[in-house]
Amino acid sequence: MTKWVYGFGSQVNEGHAGMKALLGGKGANLAEMAGIGLPVPPGFTLTTDVCVAYYRDGRRYPDGLRTQVEEALAQVESQVGARFGDPSGPLLVSVRSGAQVSMPGMMDTVLNLGLNDETVRGLAVQSGDERFAWDSYRRFIQMYGSVVLGISHHLFEDVIEARKSALDLTEDTELSAEDWQEVVSFYQDIVRQETGQAFPQTPRDQLWGAIGAVFGSWMNPRAITYRRLHDIPAEWGTAVNVQAMVFGNMGEDCATGVCFTRDPSTGENVFYGEYLVNAQGEDVVAGIRTPQPMSEARAKPGEISMEKALPGAYAELLHVREMLEAHYRDMQDIEFTVQRNTLYMLQTRTGKRTAAAALRIAVDMAEAGQISHEEAILRVPPASLDQLLHPALDPQAERVRIARGLPASPGAASGALVFTAEEVEARALKGEDVILARVETSPEDVHGMHAARGVLTTRGGMTSHAAVVARGMGRVCVAGAGDIRIDYKAGTLTADGHVLRRGDWITLDGGTGEVFLGRVATVEPRLSGDFATLMGWADSVRRLGVRANAETPDDAATARRFGAEGIGLCRTEHMFFAPDRIGAVRRMILAPDAAGRRAALDDLMPFQRADFAALFRIMAGLPVTVRLLDPPLHEFLPHGDAELAEVARGLSLSLEEARARVAALSESNPMLGHRGCRLGVTAPEIYAMQVRAVLEAAVAVARETGEIVRPEIMIPLVGMETELAYTRGEAEKVAASVDGLDGHVDYSIGTMIELPRAALTADRIAAHADFFSFGTNDLTQTVFGLSRDDAGSFLPTYVEKGLLPKDPFVSIDFEGVGEIVAIAARKGRQVKPTLKMGICGEHGGDPASIAFCEKIGLDYVSCSPYRVPVARLAAAQAALKARLSAEA
Ligand code: PEP
Ligand code: MG
Repeated sequence: MTKWVYGFGSQVNEGHAGMKALLGGKGANLAEMAGIGLPVPPGFTLTTDVCVAYYRDGRRYPDGLRTQVEEALAQVESQVGARFGDPSGPLLVSVRSGAQVSMPGMMDTVLNLGLNDETVRGLAVQSGDERFAWDSYRRFIQMYGSVVLGISHHLFEDVIEARKSALDLTEDTELSAEDWQEVVSFYQDIVRQETGQAFPQTPRDQLWGAIGAVFGSWMNPRAITYRRLHDIPAEWGTAVNVQAMVFGNMGEDCATGVCFTRDPSTGENVFYGEYLVNAQGEDVVAGIRTPQPMSEARAKPGEISMEKALPGAYAELLHVREMLEAHYRDMQDIEFTVQRNTLYMLQTRTGKRTAAAALRIAVDMAEAGQISHEEAILRVPPASLDQLLHPALDPQAERVRIARGLPASPGAASGALVFTAEEVEARALKGEDVILARVETSPEDVHGMHAARGVLTTRGGMTSHAAVVARGMGRVCVAGAGDIRIDYKAGTLTADGHVLRRGDWITLDGGTGEVFLGRVATVEPRLSGDFATLMGWADSVRRLGVRANAETPDDAATARRFGAEGIGLCRTEHMFFAPDRIGAVRRMILAPDAAGRRAALDDLMPFQRADFAALFRIMAGLPVTVRLLDPPLHEFLPHGDAELAEVARGLSLSLEEARARVAALSESNPMLGHRGCRLGVTAPEIYAMQVRAVLEAAVAVARETGEIVRPEIMIPLVGMETELAYTRGEAEKVAASVDGLDGHVDYSIGTMIELPRAALTADRIAAHADFFSFGTNDLTQTVFGLSRDDAGSFLPTYVEKGLLPKDPFVSIDFEGVGEIVAIAARKGRQVKPTLKMGICGEHGGDPASIAFCEKIGLDYVSCSPYRVPVARLAAAQAALKARLSAEA
């Protein structure tokens, strides 16, 4: 008989942390904590296999499940010494979802399950606190009503608000036992009205109702969206945890809290978190009351730390913190409850953290000898470094602060103020920068948070939904800015006397929690300290080189600061658009004959030479791959008659003649048209000018600096051996005529491999190439037969429907494009073992694609400057993983 249910607790403990796939993260860690002797209230986990069987069998539970649940429940009853449904002293349980990884889109928690009109009286007697009993019952109906029965929680909240305002009270805690009893009866009316049925009174029905809701929530649209965003397979399923209740709301010697063993925002090694006296867990997360700090050191005037309020439980918690860190060797996110001064642990998991915190924790732990350098490297998700590389507010910039909330997720962001997730998405799609402002966020807002530059909430703490989700996504977030008033109906945000409307700009500083009017200038990040340390470790283990795609001196300088080891792609066409040269470019294109073209090229030449010289200087001895002109010429053509007339004048043509030239250059399929080396074949003087500019600049800079200059001249869009043989021959003729090309200029000539024919004939092409650079943008386009410029209108649907795992222009398609790259690499190396090979498509900055490049043994990846650190770390991780799997 399959085992569907696993017990946890001090007496019956059948799981451990290694069983996350079966027990879910929460269940596995509850068992692990119980196993190392931490105080965990007893309970049991229905496995993820139950969920899988439930969906496989048309939403039916597997045979044997009910019996196993009954047995597990009986064991919990005997450990706690109370019976489920016993009117004189009932066992109450919590029911929580728990997938392999935590998933905010799902049903979360139902507390106090087992209460009904009879057992509530038993609870009152047992606890000696009538008010507590009725408050617990109304909480249960409220949670069960909203998460299991699907009733809007506002209906319940309104009852409490009405009660408080009738009595002229402000705090929930001021309501009496009788008030809560009346609230309960109103709640029961709501349930009857909304569902047509009475609130379920049988604890077992309640239990199966909650279990069914957890399994049902696995397939709700929010959970499905979340899984898609985070690459979580639907086949995993969720587990359900049923656990004996402990109460943080039985009085002033009770509390509940959420904390991190280190600061999840900065990574500082301090105990960090929030708690509430006399409260139930959801009160902290829901942001209804303002939580208080854990340690006295962090308490501001007027705040009461847990250290002061509950010193005994606090001391015990500090001990638990040490045990958990020593055991898990990573920062933990924990939930606890103190019931009458006794501490209970309700959850531990690896804590979500900002990129800055991930770095600092990894480096601190490695330096303290808790983990190895290799583990530290593997602990930081490369893509998360993005957060650190983004700008902060310029300290010199003028600003008008209108509010301050909590610094929930760092970085600075400006954008138009928007109040709904839907509008964020719509505006972001048009390329606008938007800030989502909400009173609080819920899982329904996750897609909007993803599309926003930043998120602002007026309610909630550092562990509120907004804070946790934004940190996970790397979005800037200011949470709980309590002085701000948001009026959704009016579409306004009021703060410090300013009334802002939808669409007005604001700026958030997620590092300080400040909110500013309008757009505030930003500055580049600092790349020292922990960042430099981890990058140093990463560099010492990676095999792949990392270069940048850059044309401008600014980009090249940024790339160097970020640790680029050269330029892997300089798209020379980008240099043609500057106002001081576009005229010459247009004359070059529209010239009626080679002589006219040459005259225009002579004008362009000094510009190009200066451009290349600037890059060589910045790259100081590192390789610089200069790609000769690639795009179809019509991309540079004049817009409108005025520009056309100017070019016509320069070429002594009539407007009509110029217009005819423009028309002649039009193509029906330009991406497959007259571009790349085809230009080099039909108009060799263009490439000749560029090659001369590269080599003369190299000679000049080598002389000026005394350092070797390493230009790599790259021919684009080669499909045939003959194309490369011809263009290379022309380039060599130019080189032969350049003075001063000596040992100080180490130039080479190679090609992009970005067409399937080139890849399949790479052995022949290699005979004429000193290097290959895989242009996986064009290669993806041509292997799939998919236009790079038009795929946006339908590819997302493919990903949504699961026809493609990811956008192949973002992450390499291993089976098709990857396979063709691997074939080319193998064929190239067969004839020329020393052939240098890299990748310069967008994939060069994508961690999964970088792992692929490591696997097939390329020499380097090249990506945009901001992704250079991401690539350095991803390359290190790929090398480490390759080493680990070779050792296994
Ligand atoms: C490529 O095709 O992958 C490439 C790097 O070149 P471009 O994007 O300029 O076509
Ligand atoms: Mg290309």
